[in-house]
Amino acid sequence: MYSTMQDVPLLVSRILRHGSTIHGKSVVTTWTGDGPPDRRTYAEIGERSARLAHALRDALGVRPEDRVGTLMWNNGEHLEAYLAIPSMGAVLHTLNLRLPPKQLAWVINHAEDRVILVNGTLLPLLAPLLPALTTVEHVVVVGPGDTSALEGCRPEVHEYEALLVDRPGTYAWPELDERTPAALCYTSGTTGDPKGVAYSHRSIYLHCLQVNTAEAMGLTDADTCLPVVPMFHVNAWGLPHAAFMTGINLLMPDRFLQPAPLAEMIETERPTYAAAVPTIWQGLLLELAEKPRDISCLKSVTIGGSACPPSLMKDFEEKHDVRVVHAWGMTETSPLGTVAHPPAGLDPEAAWPYRITQGRFPCSVEARLVGPDGTEQPWDGTSAGELEVRGNWIAGAYYGGPGAEAVRPEDKFAPDGWLRTGDVGTITPDGYLSLTDRAKDVIKSGGEWISSVELENRLMAHPDVLEAAVVAVPDERWGERPLATVVLREGSTTGFAELREFLAGQVAKWQLPERWSVITEVPKTSVGKFDKKVLRARYAEGGLQ
Ligand code: ADP
Repeated sequence: MYSTMQDVPLLVSRILRHGSTIHGKSVVTTWTGDGPPDRRTYAEIGERSARLAHALRDALGVRPEDRVGTLMWNNGEHLEAYLAIPSMGAVLHTLNLRLPPKQLAWVINHAEDRVILVNGTLLPLLAPLLPALTTVEHVVVVGPGDTSALEGCRPEVHEYEALLVDRPGTYAWPELDERTPAALCYTSGTTGDPKGVAYSHRSIYLHCLQVNTAEAMGLTDADTCLPVVPMFHVNAWGLPHAAFMTGINLLMPDRFLQPAPLAEMIETERPTYAAAVPTIWQGLLLELAEKPRDISCLKSVTIGGSACPPSLMKDFEEKHDVRVVHAWGMTETSPLGTVAHPPAGLDPEAAWPYRITQGRFPCSVEARLVGPDGTEQPWDGTSAGELEVRGNWIAGAYYGGPGAEAVRPEDKFAPDGWLRTGDVGTITPDGYLSLTDRAKDVIKSGGEWISSVELENRLMAHPDVLEAAVVAVPDERWGERPLATVVLREGSTTGFAELREFLAGQVAKWQLPERWSVITEVPKTSVGKFDKKVLRARYAEGGLQ
């Protein structure tokens, strides 16, 4: 017996063709600060992607599987690169512009980028790195910026629009094998060197189909999506490519990621959907409290990338009537892992406990929990273990670099190939994941585990606490104990004793931190998550009592 179906490769070029024709009238708007926003239709983006592909191939000599780096904000040109580079058979390498310069240079060399597209406003970041870059032959400057720092530099410098002008507006996109690499993204390297995940055309295509289902983001061409999550952070959670499948309009924030311009662009451009890490939303809430604006256009926002405090969800819903959907994922999972839509038919009160979990697994992501003794734990909502996953858009290895084999470190991949996420939690019988912590953040106190995330979420529900991060500090008697760092609302006189008392009714007594510290801001990683590594180093000696 055989199947009688056609075998059409799942390619980014198909997404590009679909979006630029069927949804040719959909619009990408890029915020420009003081000036009028830049608007281009999907049809124009399609045409400009073809021009870009011609320029890369004919003027810069980009060949199949060559890496083209992008050091860019979320904007229309970045979307063109997202579509053109994989479609022509090259590999889009999104560069995290918040990485420390040394790491950024390491990543570019490791990926052997031949070309870098860079926003003019980011030249001060790129220019000093150029002497250390071993493979970059061309730098293409996108948008205005001071290019004087590039004078006399080794890579040839080009201007994006000048490169595109007079090129054909169509391109014979090659019929590639769907398993060829389309995009490369490095983890933010919180421990050791960043690790490269090479997404295939197939994995991107399938992932985008899932992003668009009602089980995930559920977006249509009636919506406008504001991806605040950077396009260098796991492909902006798949939204740019997914948008070209459904024709949802895009509102790109470019470099205007501070709470005030975000609030302004939401009020003016009226997006219906947005996505970002919790710290962005926290900042927006404070901004709106100070300077109220109408953000009622937002029907739903997805919050993920780190645990979303339930208090943040409540605030958005109660004060601004915006529904928050919690989601979990990581670079290695493309990133869509789970999304917290409650089961059908529940009233709001019954739905709430489901909505504050990390969410439910979609069909293409299989999950298991592995206990400390290596045995698989039941899905009973209470047995905890490290989450391992496998599926159609889950990494099976890391990119090994020039001439090297793929890398499968033991701590990241189980012998049977499942991805070890490093996240610890429970799963209910109906597949809802609750993460208690990252394995490296969990506090091991006298043989018991204390969830730093639980303490943080509870503390952040206190009206005077803006941010709270809890880390393990060494303790002679217990091995480790929690130290709570808190950022207090301006003018607050709340003391540690009161915060401890506040927690006392909610968690077991032995979990209550005895060490506290007031800080002005929780240090953040390059993608805006709490950087507990920095806190742990700061308080390695035990912190304040
Ligand atoms: P990095 O690992 O370098 O921080 P990622 O963006 O890939 O980069 O981070 C993935 C990790 O972020 C996950 O393994 C998990 O620990 C954390 N994370 C993501 N989403 C959530 C969430 N909703 N709740 C809790 N943790 C989350």
